[in-house]
Amino acid sequence: MNKLTSPRVIETLLKKYDLHFNKRFGQNFLTDENIVQKIVRAADIGEADLVLEIGPGIGTMTQALSESAGKIVTVEIDKKLIPVLHETLNDCDNVTIVQGDILKTNVKEILGEDLLTMPLKIVANLPYYITTPIIMGFLESDLPIESMTFLIQKEVGERLCGVPSTKSYGSLSIVAQFYADISIDFEVPAHVFMPKPKVDSIVVTLKKLTKPKIVLENKDLFLAVVKASFLNRRKTLINGLTMNTPFDKEVLLEVLEACEISPGIRGEALTGADFGRIANALSQRVD
Ligand code: SAM
Repeated sequence: MNKLTSPRVIETLLKKYDLHFNKRFGQNFLTDENIVQKIVRAADIGEADLVLEIGPGIGTMTQALSESAGKIVTVEIDKKLIPVLHETLNDCDNVTIVQGDILKTNVKEILGEDLLTMPLKIVANLPYYITTPIIMGFLESDLPIESMTFLIQKEVGERLCGVPSTKSYGSLSIVAQFYADISIDFEVPAHVFMPKPKVDSIVVTLKKLTKPKIVLENKDLFLAVVKASFLNRRKTLINGLTMNTPFDKEVLLEVLEACEISPGIRGEALTGADFGRIANALSQRVD
């Protein structure tokens, strides 16, 4: 089979099926076989694994996954790509193609009973317009996910891995790191995509934690405190919390004092564990 990373093969397929790259669906197809193989290696896929792929496009990464994984279920939103996928994945017996929007798909249902016996790994060259909702949705879900390896916009990758007192650090870093250990695998230049995206890209792997690093009394309160502290990045912690949570300033000052955290610092100086202590202390003040 001709490699789907070949721009000539991509153009021939698009012509044959009368297709155009659909910007609305964030379609930037990979044209570098090396990068495809590197992503599959970073995801550490083996024969025992059940892989969920998001957005197969014309099936480029799906073919590579099919050579390593036990089973692959791949979800593509673009109805026009489904006949293409049936052609390009015709020889891949371990692949199931599902048409749908991943954000509206019942993933447990499409993965079925294999979910009970096979480790689940999610792999995708994600459509950049919905990267964060997809990642947060899977982090917050109760699916038994072992790992997620995503090719994403570099800036989002840096935010996911962000550490205190840096530009990339924010609520996304804290919340994502609450659920997972996150590492950067490698950078991907814009010229390996067709069409070329305007932004740089990066591959990251998220390993979902089985036990949370921070023990929380009330997870929703933790999420609310983190969000409130970063809504206005230039405001001090006490001002952010006073403006964006229902607690009185006096209560917040008492809680911060008990946690030995200065009310005058900015949220970006605090670690996830600091926010956990604040949220746990505040949970004692909720009626
Ligand atoms: N995997 C292919 C590759 O690497 O060449 C294509 C990646 S392209 C960046 C993103 C793919 O996700 C496109 O095929 C697009 O149609 C699909 N997509 C976009 N939004 C989606 C959604 N909500 N659910 C499922 N697939 C989606």
